[in-house]
Amino acid sequence: MSMKNYEFWFVVGSQFLYGTEVLNTVAQRASEMADKLNQSGNLPCKLVYKATVKTHEEITKLMKEANYNDKCAGVVSWCHTFSPSKMWINGFDLLQKPYCHLATQYNREIPNDEIDMDFMNLNQAAHGDREHGFITARLRMRRKIIAGYWQDEETQKRLGSWMRAAYGAVFSKKVKVMRFGDNMREVAVTEGDKVEVQAKLGWQVNTWPVGELVKVMDEVTSSEIDALMAVYRTKYTFATDDLETVRYQARAEIAMRKMLDAEGCQAFSNTFQDLYGMKQLPGLATQNMMADGYGYGGEGDWKVSAMVAIMKAMSEGLNGGTSFMEDYTYHLAQGNEYSLGAHMLEVCPSLAADKPRIEVHHLGIGDREPPARLVFEGHEGPAIVVSLVDMGGRLRLICQDIECVKPIMDMPKLPVARVMWKPMPDMTTAIEAWITAGGAHHTVLSYDITAEQMKDWARLMDIEFVHINKDTTIDTLEHDLFLSDLAWKLK
Ligand code: MN
Repeated sequence: MSMKNYEFWFVVGSQFLYGTEVLNTVAQRASEMADKLNQSGNLPCKLVYKATVKTHEEITKLMKEANYNDKCAGVVSWCHTFSPSKMWINGFDLLQKPYCHLATQYNREIPNDEIDMDFMNLNQAAHGDREHGFITARLRMRRKIIAGYWQDEETQKRLGSWMRAAYGAVFSKKVKVMRFGDNMREVAVTEGDKVEVQAKLGWQVNTWPVGELVKVMDEVTSSEIDALMAVYRTKYTFATDDLETVRYQARAEIAMRKMLDAEGCQAFSNTFQDLYGMKQLPGLATQNMMADGYGYGGEGDWKVSAMVAIMKAMSEGLNGGTSFMEDYTYHLAQGNEYSLGAHMLEVCPSLAADKPRIEVHHLGIGDREPPARLVFEGHEGPAIVVSLVDMGGRLRLICQDIECVKPIMDMPKLPVARVMWKPMPDMTTAIEAWITAGGAHHTVLSYDITAEQMKDWARLMDIEFVHINKDTTIDTLEHDLFLSDLAWKLK
């Protein structure tokens, strides 16, 4: 399912009016543009020039092929010349893949000495793209519009960034979540409509008994555990002599991987309230699996687990880090306010500033033996936190911009991984905005994925998107939420 195996189709609109020579030139240039865009290194997936389309039949056929081609993650269109848009209606109406309108132009500048009417007829994206844009607006298509010169790095990076969001949409349709036990008793925000998420997002969310996991754990051999311990030794610093406890985590990890892989699951959840037959809550085991791209949600939070898997998939090849996260406690010193994010164990080591340490400590929750876990500090840098909530009848994705810092204290008695950040726009407005929108305590924190990508992803999935950023005020947020509540009821 690697992102690299997917491609996007570059489709260029035209018509027969201009004659064969112009059409050949358009096709040649479109092919050259796809080649250069691929060579730029700014696109995570290959852009494949498919055709210069001139008729209703051609366009309809191509869009149908895009739908059924498993390698095709989306369509990028552009109009070098003028392409009357009524011929696109049926094709666009049928298109089920992510769609981007790249509004660009082959030449960067107007050639003062050479420009004549032949040049004008060949290079008319300025109005070709307007005709093209009207029909997608008229059809209320979910679309991404990127305007800019195609050889500019900024334009290429925006297209690449959208490709990651589009891949996230394709990935989402294949997500399977393995739930070990139900979600934590009485908790509201980790509930949700599993039928709705499958219809809307494609997720298959199902449960497996913890007893079955314990059975698979019992069958794990000591040589399998030896091999995983060797991996732990290369990746982490052992800050404990209690190797039996660490080996128990390895046993749990091997068993969970076996069960997830056998079912084709990319994400899982468990809860400290249902560890029947287990000696430790999986800590290190879960953390090391997240580092390899598996999604995870604590306390049975399958929504955040699937979102971790999706955002990790979208960030393939990047190295900033993406993890399950929880807003734990605040530092409210005036003018120096921070949120401290952590979990009882399970934060992904992809966030770590330095090599994580394996430690064993007592865990007051869950009534089990002290579990091994990775302890580290998150690194500094801009990031986002994302929460998907079920509003009853619809899903809302909330995204907040944050600025992570090196934790301002070393907190020597805190036995878990920790990340510290300033939420936007400022601490109190940020908290009020998050609570106003109904955001959960569990989030996905990512240094690699941007708010624009999550907005693109939400649009592709046809769910509500709320962005809390440096410009957010409570008045405008409340107004937006009020209007969007009405709009989503009508949808
Ligand atoms: Mn939690």
